[in-house]
Amino acid sequence: MKALVKSRREVGLWMEDVPRPTYGIDEVLIRVHRAGICGSDLHIWNWDDWARGAVAVPTVVGHEFAGEIVELGSNVQGFKVGDVVSGEGHVVCGSCRNCRAGRRHLCAHTQGVGVTRDGCFAEFVVIPKTNVWHHDDQIDREVAAIFDPFGNALHTALSFPVVGEDVLITGAGPIGLMAIPVVKHAGARHVVVTDLNQFRLEQARKMGATVALNPVERSLDDVQHELGMQEGFDVGLEMSGSPAALRQMVSSMSHGGKIAVLGIPNENPGIDWRKVIFRSLTIRGVYGREMYETWYQMTILLRSGVDISPVITHRFSFDDFEQGFELMQTADCGKVILHWPWAT
Ligand code: NAD
Ligand code: ZN
Repeated sequence: MKALVKSRREVGLWMEDVPRPTYGIDEVLIRVHRAGICGSDLHIWNWDDWARGAVAVPTVVGHEFAGEIVELGSNVQGFKVGDVVSGEGHVVCGSCRNCRAGRRHLCAHTQGVGVTRDGCFAEFVVIPKTNVWHHDDQIDREVAAIFDPFGNALHTALSFPVVGEDVLITGAGPIGLMAIPVVKHAGARHVVVTDLNQFRLEQARKMGATVALNPVERSLDDVQHELGMQEGFDVGLEMSGSPAALRQMVSSMSHGGKIAVLGIPNENPGIDWRKVIFRSLTIRGVYGREMYETWYQMTILLRSGVDISPVITHRFSFDDFEQGFELMQTADCGKVILHWPWAT
């Protein structure tokens, strides 16, 4: 089969002919229809410090996808050939304290699809039955392919109650963008979004941000004043990975404000802990999504009117994957999708 492989310890990914993956009795073979390019795939392409430490060579990359089941291991029940499915990208151990207590998203022994085991930028992918999510018929097939990052967005966005609250989202990458309609649907009042990139700020407006601004050009104080906000933001969602953005968020919160941090900083953000203490802030780190409560909530929110489809801005065939990655490097895009010719 054809697959995008990290087969050399240098910048790039290569389309190669590799054996179709074999599967065990508890695993499922899926024909991939569409796959989303994630920021982490770009790190693997760029072969940066994180990628060099995390990815064994060779590995088939990619973890955001939708496809159809073509074969099932002998011990798999509850799925059938032809089911349209996605996969949870975190393969947990199943036997640690957290896994056994039903807190699988907190497993400390997680394997990553497309990172530490072969992924979905391929004609076929194999995942354990416990990682398969069977899509509701009413879910758009492109949106189905990005349930994994939508899950990051939703799990972070709903970390704290947002009914009537003023929410600050720093970073309008695909995940920050998807968080906008979620918090609005969940009852937020003002949703203020920051980014440095003009294209992404425009996207944020399209997805329902009350105000989207470049914090270098305009201050958050100014926006708060315009919106008639008295004491700062109630809930902050850090989705940029920028240390500056997290520091700015801490400075813009109301007393008792709550911050969920998804963005992964590449250096110590050096936040002012006195502000955290004297404002009684709560800061919560977020990794992944809940298995499978988040997946259930995504389905129900989509079925009850939340529309994240505008986040998908570009589509390329797998043969043109290089164009997709080049576009991702510019950041003048939302979510970029790769598709095989048989995608329905
Ligand atoms: P992305 O890189 O596409 O988006 C980040 C955005 O932040 C970019 O648009 C960038 O212009 C913007 N930004 C940079 N500096 C900024 C600043 N000072 N203020 C405001 N915005 C700024 O990433 P993404 O795919 O949307 O993911 C968002 C973040 O979440 C990334 O850091 C990613 O690594 C992280 N992530 C974490 C998890 C997890 O489980 N914790 C999962 C997926 C992604
Ligand atoms: Zn575990």
